[in-house]
Amino acid sequence: MNTITRHYIDGAFVEPHGREVMDIIKPTNGQVIGRVTLADEEDTRRAIAAAKSAFTTFGQSTKEERTQILRRLHEAALARVDDLTAAMVEEYGGVVRFAGLMVQSGVNAFLATEKALQELPLTRNWGQTMVTLEPVGVAGLITAWNANALFICLKLASAVAAGCTVVIKPSEMSSLQTQVLIEALHDANLPKGVLNVVTGRGNVVGAELVRNPDVAKISFTGSVGVGKSIMRDGADTMKRVTLELGGKSPTILLDDAVLDQAIPSALVMAFLNSGQACAAGTRLLVPQSRLDQVKRAIVDAMPSFPVGDPADPNTAVGPMVSQKQYEQVQSYIRKGIEEGAEVLVGGEGHPPGFEAGYFVKPTVFVNVKNDMTIAQEEIFGPVLSVISYDSEDEAIRIANDSKYGLHAAVLGTDIQRAHRVAGQINAGRIVINNMTDDPKAPWGGFKYSGVGREYGQYGIEAFLEPRAILA
Ligand code: NAD
Repeated sequence: MNTITRHYIDGAFVEPHGREVMDIIKPTNGQVIGRVTLADEEDTRRAIAAAKSAFTTFGQSTKEERTQILRRLHEAALARVDDLTAAMVEEYGGVVRFAGLMVQSGVNAFLATEKALQELPLTRNWGQTMVTLEPVGVAGLITAWNANALFICLKLASAVAAGCTVVIKPSEMSSLQTQVLIEALHDANLPKGVLNVVTGRGNVVGAELVRNPDVAKISFTGSVGVGKSIMRDGADTMKRVTLELGGKSPTILLDDAVLDQAIPSALVMAFLNSGQACAAGTRLLVPQSRLDQVKRAIVDAMPSFPVGDPADPNTAVGPMVSQKQYEQVQSYIRKGIEEGAEVLVGGEGHPPGFEAGYFVKPTVFVNVKNDMTIAQEEIFGPVLSVISYDSEDEAIRIANDSKYGLHAAVLGTDIQRAHRVAGQINAGRIVINNMTDDPKAPWGGFKYSGVGREYGQYGIEAFLEPRAILA
């Protein structure tokens, strides 16, 4: 049994003022595997005070000092990669092949950000004018559970690169991985108060960060509903906000795509993190003329996406994070059937042999219309909607007919054509043929998928305020 009682404030692990104790539940079997004592408003205010005090010095730090800190953070996180991956698998049932990649990208974020900082001019001069990019102040970093360690590393790297001090409010459902990560980052010997971490409820710790006048900026990853409330409630203290929110990402399969490659690629994107990924490609748009071939190719490819123990490297789809998430996925599958979509694979209920935890059947719907609920709302589970189109223009129109605009994919043989199609999709990031990453490329959404960008120089600039001096 893991018992987590301490939070990280002013460079030390401290007992919280908060008294609420929350169970940590293992999603593969629904059993209690630990308990965490949650922080409250008082703990949050102590963490903010520590960050505010540290900012008076750290806000004046040089680029060289910050690059050294980023290197130390990288080394410290690298030392615990295996423990971090194991905690993610245990705590939210993240499949090990995906959790390992997420941890590695989090660790790499420190080095990628260090490089971006080296290349970012913090002072620009022309004529008698000097513009400097100044750290915005104390930053509140609020993360979602589905890749909590990655989000903490990414946001922390950008904030520190900019010279901000931080108070992190990780998801309360990620206490184990947060504990491992913070133990690791403690070894980076940051100046006291630069890094503070208080795990607690969103409406307690998160809300205090959002309303506290000593916090200048909120960088948030999570749902649209909470993102809206942060924007609204943060307005009173003129918070700067970066919001990384949900998605309903389209994958456009062009008529020249080779199905042996395109369908596995589309399914990887659909079932990413067991479908619990903001970027999951949950709408597959296919030419009507190839629909029958696509259906056969999907059925043939499904054995390569087995449900199973997330610790098994062969598993592609693990459990949902919680009973609530399990029920949400079930209700969307029911809704899809009620609205007239046809289940090609999967369907309601647990997969046979996986009745104990929060496992669902990876499900593919065909005969989906883009105005159906399952094509419009983020399900956050392994549920793919196949939608047919008659022309390239119609495919682009359907792709953009969504309130979201986070991620998209174009699958096809003619790369120039795929680029042309990608250039007409209203999304923050579009990949061609495979799920790839580039730590210099911005991450973030159009429309309801968010405000602002993370990664590389875009991520650092989100924590900076330009100051112009004119003589
Ligand atoms: P959530 O919005 O429920 O919670 C996110 C965080 O916000 C948690 O730490 C939570 O405690 C906190 N929170 C809740 N209420 C709050 C309040 N009133 N004030 C301040 N903080 C509050 O989201 P979730 O269920 O943890 O994550 C799933 C969602 O996150 C999905 O919509 C997914 O698409 C999105 N997401 C987006 C990205 C991205 O990069 N765009 C990445 C991962 C997840």
